[in-house]
Amino acid sequence: MAQQPYPPGARLLARPDTAKPCPACGDLLGRGYPDCVTCAERVDSYWKADWAALLDDQGIVEGDPEERELAGRVVADDPGAHPWTCVDWALRLMTCPACRAELATGDPGCLSCAGADQTRWAWDDAGMPVSMTRNEHDLRVAVACLRAADRRRDTIVAYSRLSLPFLLTGDSASRAQAQRIRTHLLASRRDELAAADSFAAMASLPDLPWRDRR
Ligand SMILES: [Zn+2]
Ligand SMILES: [Zn+2]
Repeated sequence: MAQQPYPPGARLLARPDTAKPCPACGDLLGRGYPDCVTCAERVDSYWKADWAALLDDQGIVEGDPEERELAGRVVADDPGAHPWTCVDWALRLMTCPACRAELATGDPGCLSCAGADQTRWAWDDAGMPVSMTRNEHDLRVAVACLRAADRRRDTIVAYSRLSLPFLLTGDSASRAQAQRIRTHLLASRRDELAAADSFAAMASLPDLPWRDRR
């Protein structure tokens, strides 16, 4: 098989230094994704920048019919032919032929959406750690999860929502931190987690032994 370039994604725009409240929804920026327009715009800007560069490269104007044709080609191409952000954006521009939802976000029973969602992750397996950092992978996973929340378990959706502001700053949770945060979520401590200002702070909520021993 030909060597694919695996051009990196989400690196054209600078990331914020710290997680700050969203001026529109008041939650930490990103937590309103995708319902809050401001959260969605800021998060999506990293994907859009790469897609705009691809359109430019191909001489295609945004909104023209050629843009959808390009999306179809990008999704059908071998993994690694385009930045992962462009693969994600192409999926968004496509409608699932089976359930008519945005491709890869339809209800859990849609095999066409499941297939489209599955194939995109080959990029991450091959692209890490050089063309894709762990932070970029975690960011991609969180955003895909929030766009297709019906397809994921509640704990995973809540975890993605809590994480997104910190992922935007370039931070990532260690495996141990992620495990601790999920444990806190299962113990219904979402409000305490939401008040914490980093992955480390979320992971280090004090234990509640009286709850564990019931
Ligand atoms: Zn917001
Ligand atoms: Zn579907």
